[in-house]
Amino acid sequence: MVVVMGRPLFADEHDQFRMVARRFVANEIVPNFEKWETEGIIDRDLFAKAGELGLLGMAVPEDLGGGGVDDFRYNVIVNEEIHLAGCNGVGLGVALHNDIVLPYFLTYCTDEQRRRWLPGIASGELITAIAMTEPGIGSDLASMSTTAIRHGEEYVVNGSKTFITNGINADLVVTAVKTDPRQRHRGMSLIVLERGMQGFERGRNLEKLGMHSQDTAELFFDDVAVPMENLLGTEGEGFGQLVQNLPQERLSLAVSAVAAARHAFALTVEYCGHRTAFGQTIGSFGHGQVVVDRAPVANGRSRAATPRRLRVHAGVPDLPGLRRCADHFYLRRHDRDHEGDHRARPRTLTTSRPPDSGDERASPCCLLPGHGGQS
Ligand SMILES: Cc1cc2nc3c(=O)[nH]c(=O)nc-3n(C[C@H](O)[C@H](O)[C@H](O)COP(=O)(O)OP(=O)(O)OC[C@H]3O[C@@H](n4cnc5c(N)ncnc54)[C@H](O)[C@@H]3O)c2cc1C
Repeated sequence: MVVVMGRPLFADEHDQFRMVARRFVANEIVPNFEKWETEGIIDRDLFAKAGELGLLGMAVPEDLGGGGVDDFRYNVIVNEEIHLAGCNGVGLGVALHNDIVLPYFLTYCTDEQRRRWLPGIASGELITAIAMTEPGIGSDLASMSTTAIRHGEEYVVNGSKTFITNGINADLVVTAVKTDPRQRHRGMSLIVLERGMQGFERGRNLEKLGMHSQDTAELFFDDVAVPMENLLGTEGEGFGQLVQNLPQERLSLAVSAVAAARHAFALTVEYCGHRTAFGQTIGSFGHGQVVVDRAPVANGRSRAATPRRLRVHAGVPDLPGLRRCADHFYLRRHDRDHEGDHRARPRTLTTSRPPDSGDERASPCCLLPGHGGQS
């Protein structure tokens, strides 16, 4: 297990919360993980068990069944503990519920909607998803073709979505639709589709390269009658609502990526330390040492950069030492990338590079959720 206590980003109460999350992962996730990877889906019960321990909906007000604490560091802890145990498919589903979808409900629900949905989201009885991507569009969201046309007091929804995280398990799906198909960005709205609505069908649970226990699925809508009370926010403002929430989505994905990379690195070091060939551990060969020595540099850069973004996001004052550390790594990379290029560039520009997961060769080729421009 990677030791992560005592980091300046977190206070004692966060460390106590981390112990609860760590026990939960060890008792409820790790023993079932292989089974869920094989089955391609997590047991729904996991969400209810997490909710019971207060590991879901920490930002939901207490009177609606949540933790009543709007502090993103608690989300980070749940997310990190699952990924540090190598259970990435589970981590994506839980982080999507806590970090990515919940803010839409907290920000845009009416009082009636809050009372209707937030208690179930916090208890884990209502699992959530967000459906933007369609078979024909991903980054270019404004070109979506799923429509929700008003007929009296209802919207009639037609279209389909794909790559939807928690797609099979979800009870509430925040769905991006065109309420005015003649327009692009201004014609978009968000409405909540619920399990059991007539004409709302699940498609395939998609095969992926990894994260097999995550039910990334297709959704189909065939004349689904959705009451107007399920509109989230204001009609025609869906695109702005999505843009508003993408930064936390990306931060959450960065936290997952760094924790998963640290787990992979810990496994590698452990393996190199006990695997022997030609009478010695493979970690003691020259190449093994180079790999092991270089990896902490990559991980160090990501870890230095992410806490700064987390501090800003969680409203915690920055630490000058942390800033210097992050700048140091980026400036080294900048100097290396521009070796021999003597034209002065504003050095601070390089500090705005996004954190990566440590694999510099693979990262430009990877397509990640939340990665596309989605504009
Ligand atoms: C595991 C997983 C889970 C997901 N979960 C969800 C989910 O829960 N909900 C959801 O709605 N979606 C989800 N997605 C979909 C994801 O958001 C999209 O894959 C992403 O938005 C990219 O869209 P796309 O796959 O259609 O790629 P495209 O838009 O076709 O892009 C392909 C490539 O072209 C590049 N590109 C596109 N436009 C430009 C441009 N203007 N300039 C330069 N390069 C460009 C992209 O960066 C990318 O490298 C998930 C995807 C994965 C892999």
